[in-house]
Amino acid sequence: MRFHSTRGNPESITASEAINRGLAPDGGLYIPEAWPAFQPEDFDGLNTVAEVANRLIAPFFAGDPLENDLAEICHQALNFPIPTRWLESDRLAMLELFHGPTAAFKDVGARFLAACMQRLQGDAAKPLNILVATSGDTGGAVAAAFDGVPGIRVVVLYPKGLVSPRQEHQLCCWGENIVSLRVAGRFDDCQALVKQAFNDGALREQFRLSSANSISIGRLLPQMSYYAHSSLQYWRETGKRLNYIIPTGNVGNSLACIWARKLGLPIGEIRLATNANRTIPDYLQSGEWQPRESVATLASAMDVGAPSNMERLFHLHPQVDSLRQAIAVQSVSDEEIRQEIQRVWQRWQEMICPHTATAFKVWEDLPDDLRQLPWNLVATAHAAKFDSIVEPLLGRQVPLPAALADILERPARRHDIAPTLEALVPFLA
Ligand SMILES: *Cc1c(COP(=O)(O)O)cnc(C)c1O
Repeated sequence: MRFHSTRGNPESITASEAINRGLAPDGGLYIPEAWPAFQPEDFDGLNTVAEVANRLIAPFFAGDPLENDLAEICHQALNFPIPTRWLESDRLAMLELFHGPTAAFKDVGARFLAACMQRLQGDAAKPLNILVATSGDTGGAVAAAFDGVPGIRVVVLYPKGLVSPRQEHQLCCWGENIVSLRVAGRFDDCQALVKQAFNDGALREQFRLSSANSISIGRLLPQMSYYAHSSLQYWRETGKRLNYIIPTGNVGNSLACIWARKLGLPIGEIRLATNANRTIPDYLQSGEWQPRESVATLASAMDVGAPSNMERLFHLHPQVDSLRQAIAVQSVSDEEIRQEIQRVWQRWQEMICPHTATAFKVWEDLPDDLRQLPWNLVATAHAAKFDSIVEPLLGRQVPLPAALADILERPARRHDIAPTLEALVPFLA
């Protein structure tokens, strides 16, 4: 299997090369050249997320230098539980993506990517600089996944004042090979800075650069595996498709679900929940794509005004009508997020994070006929990561998961920079 750019450059490369490069040279994103077709029965006898992932991702690594390592990579990366927990039988479940080392779904992609890159490094003379722009959770997950990996440095860029204190700590508490930069700007400025670095030919001559943002194919492919695993589980039990509501920012997580359905997994409806950043809902309504600056919300990891993975979605659905048939999108306000956190606690005694709350609101607002279907609401982070928002709303403490407690004990360090290339360059090696 080979991958090519969304922008039409005819060059095609293997998964490993796409992982090493991150962004295509023409500025596009890598997409697979073909879509393998699966039947649910192709996964018979496979029960863990890692086993399902290995079968699902195998065609994408066919002919790749890492082909024979794939099973080991899946088992190394996907070594924590990803349960579907039912709140109301046959009607409402939560897909808990927050049992990894940094308590958010980004651990899945980051750990898979790290497992791949570790094996691809060989003994290169210069270190590889992985640039990560983060609105909160990506940076922590990537830093944790690469902490102490020889030959690889991670440079994390995050927006000053726009991540929660606990998130910030997770960005800044790692070993020598992780550099944390607090940028005077928003997430979009961080992301633009990373793109600028990649598009700078001279810089790329001087430094080995790679990315670990949700544009990396090495993060998207493994994210399909929890949709495959959870939908297969339900299919085996009921013969019915499971439907998903996905809190969405840069569209990495939701794209993985759309891809998994395209590959033949038993997935029904897919609904995206955004916060007050309305770029995607406005597009579905008006048919005009108008990326813009992001606005700050309580679900800060979804504060994206120019979601980059949309470029991959446009490739699948060039016409807005076709996209309207594939997905639905709803925007959720901060006020609704607050209400939902309280309502979910009162009704089910579940503590949810502000991102997960957007999915609950979308479920709450479903028309009656759709509400009859079985829905899996994607819980993207643990409530304890957003204690400063959740605790005052519930009037009680959120118990800290053990992994998070360990991380918060480590000392933290960071540097402040302006959102410019000149400010970034001194931190590359
Ligand atoms: C990153 C993130 C999201 C948004 O995911 P995308 O792939 O960017 O759409 C939602 N919730 C949490 C907790 C996140 O960290």
